[in-house]
Amino acid sequence: MKNPKTNELTERIKHAKNIAILTGAGVSTESGLPDFRSSEGIYKREHRLEYYLSRSYFQQHPAEFWNHYIDIFQLQTLNQYKPNVSHHVLSEIEKIGKNVTIITQNVDGFHQAAGSTNVIEVHGSLRGATCPECVQSYEIDYKGLEKAPLCVKCQSTGSGGHVILEPNIVLYGDAVIGWEQAEDAIEKADLFIAMGSSLSVSPVNMLPAFAAEADIPSVLINNEPTIMDRYFDLVLLGPLGEILKEAASEIELNI
Ligand code: NAD
Repeated sequence: MKNPKTNELTERIKHAKNIAILTGAGVSTESGLPDFRSSEGIYKREHRLEYYLSRSYFQQHPAEFWNHYIDIFQLQTLNQYKPNVSHHVLSEIEKIGKNVTIITQNVDGFHQAAGSTNVIEVHGSLRGATCPECVQSYEIDYKGLEKAPLCVKCQSTGSGGHVILEPNIVLYGDAVIGWEQAEDAIEKADLFIAMGSSLSVSPVNMLPAFAAEADIPSVLINNEPTIMDRYFDLVLLGPLGEILKEAASEIELNI
């Protein structure tokens, strides 16, 4: 059944010029990648996520960190997953001439893979790793990867021996990436939409309050209520793929 609030979402998108969209792991669950906190989320099988994905754990136990990192994000099978209809709808909104900035907490790279061109990855990216000694960056082929990857450059020059690479995601305890650009995009927006996020990870979960203070009209689309619902003037509860597909057909997007 059609969500009764989809018309209002559609009208808002049609009339907006600059749209800032905050996305979370819920945008990628329909691709088959589990989120963290919903009933099927990764927390269910790994309660110590925040400990294992912290900067201090990486610094103290880099080899063990990689074992957990590979397991938590199921990195060996990452290449099997693809962007879904929600990622495609967002990239099509850009193609009809809207100035869209995607501020994503996701680390899967699916927005860019679906064609969105202006993406701020505030929590970094799974797609790569960097040597903490020589700063050489690497793309990682996760298929078959069972343990921590080492810096080939440091090994070949003999300078550092076995240097374990650092993942390109933001770890708990790190600062987020692109914060000023994210705030700037929201300040310039005439519509702010958040979707697929429990809005429980700080500081990103302060962005709805930031948008509300700046008086930016705002919409939340999520499967379940969040602790930040009060900052949105329109809240749609339901599965993203369905809601965005309906909106796309009303806007006559090429989906
Ligand atoms: P979260 O797991 O805390 O919340 C996800 C929210 O999305 C939940 O409220 C859930 O109800 C909702 N949701 C799930 N599927 C949905 C659907 N199909 N339609 C509508 N709503 C749906 O995720 P978060 O808020 O993004 O924060 C968790 C952290 O998890 C982020 O820092 C992110 O980096 C990381 N993470 C990323 C990925 C990814 O890149 N795909 C996957 C897991 C975790």
